[in-house]
Amino acid sequence: MNTDWMRLGKCKDMDPAVFFPSDGVGVLVAQRVCAKCIVRSPCLEYALVNKISEGVWGGASERQRKRLLGQRRRQSTSSAHPTSSERPTVPVRTAAPVGS
Ligand code: SF4
Repeated sequence: MNTDWMRLGKCKDMDPAVFFPSDGVGVLVAQRVCAKCIVRSPCLEYALVNKISEGVWGGASERQRKRLLGQRRRQSTSSAHPTSSERPTVPVRTAAPVGS
């Protein structure tokens, strides 16, 4: 996965500890920085794809990313098992093929 976006992150020159908070107040501090970051979206996607469980990434806390991963899992499961109305219909042959 491309990581060029990392050099544009607002946190680039900050203490990494800010993004690995130990309490809710710390999470809010990190999220305030992320809210002004132009690479928030790829940062969040990177954390989700790589299943990074620690810290604040893309403005999302550990709990929020866990929830997002759960939603994605459920969506991919439901699209893998379409309901009967979503299933493609199989054409029914009503006459013998020409020339038979
Ligand atoms: S979204 Fe937050 S953690 Fe990600 S690069 Fe930007 S400031 Fe850093």
